[in-house]
Amino acid sequence: MQGGVRSFNRDNNQRRVTGGLLNRDPVIVSACLVGVNCRYDGGSAFREDVLELQGRPPIPLCPEQLGGLPTPRVPAEISEGGGRDVLRGTAHVEDLNGMDVTERFLNGAYEVLKIMRLFDIRKAVLKDKSPSCGGKQIYRKGRLIEGMGVTAFLLNSAGIKIKVVE
Ligand code: SF4
Repeated sequence: MQGGVRSFNRDNNQRRVTGGLLNRDPVIVSACLVGVNCRYDGGSAFREDVLELQGRPPIPLCPEQLGGLPTPRVPAEISEGGGRDVLRGTAHVEDLNGMDVTERFLNGAYEVLKIMRLFDIRKAVLKDKSPSCGGKQIYRKGRLIEGMGVTAFLLNSAGIKIKVVE
């Protein structure tokens, strides 16, 4: 159908979350981990095992999209330190074109926390190596270093239990 609705099943990795899960405590997941094409390059980081989540229904969120950034977008890095420093105002987030996107990253992080509080969600599964979601490592000048992204640090500070996924 020309000009019609895009095919719902564009990706081979789409699956339905099985019945019964909605009766259990939900968990926030980095949306790219469950096949949402929200990464900077317009792709995902699909992980089949994250869909299972030990019986918890995943609620996919992408803090960078929630913060108002487009997809695809120019990749960004935290200037120094990590998410903690961005939240303290002593570091910023800059994309590879030199544009300061700190406010977008902060907005996205606080939107995720707001949604979690609204629905009393206390666990999150986050994609590592992201300046937003990274829970153990982030990139600095293209190299991996130890550190947390902005959203990961905010959620951790708020007492959210975080599972980090590669
Ligand atoms: S911000 Fe998080 S959810 Fe969004 S693409 Fe990056 S790692 Fe995935």
